[in-house]
Amino acid sequence: MRIAAKDHVFALSSAHAPAAEVESGSVVTFETMDCFANGLACADQLFSSIDWNEINPATGPLAVRGALPGDVLKVEILDIRLAEQGVMVTVPGFGVLDREMVRETTKIVRVEGGKAVLNDRIELPVAPMIGVIGVAPKGDPIVTGTPGDHGGNMDCKRIVKGASLYLPVNVPGALLALGDLHAVMGDGEIVVCGVEIAGEVDVRVSVLKGAVLPTPFLAEGGRLMTIASAETLDEAAAEATRRMHRFLLERLGIESHEAGMLLSAAADLRVCQVVDPLKTARVELPAWIAERYGFRLD
Ligand code: CA
Ligand code: CA
Repeated sequence: MRIAAKDHVFALSSAHAPAAEVESGSVVTFETMDCFANGLACADQLFSSIDWNEINPATGPLAVRGALPGDVLKVEILDIRLAEQGVMVTVPGFGVLDREMVRETTKIVRVEGGKAVLNDRIELPVAPMIGVIGVAPKGDPIVTGTPGDHGGNMDCKRIVKGASLYLPVNVPGALLALGDLHAVMGDGEIVVCGVEIAGEVDVRVSVLKGAVLPTPFLAEGGRLMTIASAETLDEAAAEATRRMHRFLLERLGIESHEAGMLLSAAADLRVCQVVDPLKTARVELPAWIAERYGFRLD
């Protein structure tokens, strides 16, 4: 099954008709535009030339048969293939360096031989990741530029090939959509973009019945991660930490104070992004610690 980039949405919503429907366990390829709907093809095209309503297209949504509210949707990222060029922008008033970025600029970034060519000195090894990936929320639609408990624009650089992302099912079919690939991005997404790029993503989607996980939950590179988004980075960090703490209590059976000390000693609290309408943080716990308590992830 393949979903073309022309089948895209700008909000995650229970009202959207699925672009495709598959059985649980299916492998699906999503073709994705970059976050500017491929509207910046050369350095003289500026961010302000893009229609605001055309930012962050997410391909889909994909309905998974049998997914019902209360289930968990497991999304295994099997592969991410990138286009040959990406793009970065600066926009005055945007991002952490909102005052320093005094001009709108656009930089085309070639991707060749597994490297993103930033300038004549710096070629960064690509680390392809998915910026926007989520399911329809329970209530009102949520625009694809905003992260939340449904996933969305989390800009978590650990959502890479080999990762398994666990999302809540809020509506029948789950309605998964994804886009906003980055060839490479640092934690924080400082000036409001990674190396934005079109591409293709292969995922396997599986419905888990009766799974109790603090979604969005991520397993990647031998780490288990809780991810939370909130108005401020402080709140996002605290909420991601509380979710991991509860996971230790409820799934691993660890006593509360022991769990607090374990997190303090062994977990890493990290920034996903600080430039979207809500900020996103994650807590990373080495998976072997959970396994020591008998935990196995489905
Ligand atoms: Ca993003
Ligand atoms: Ca982006």
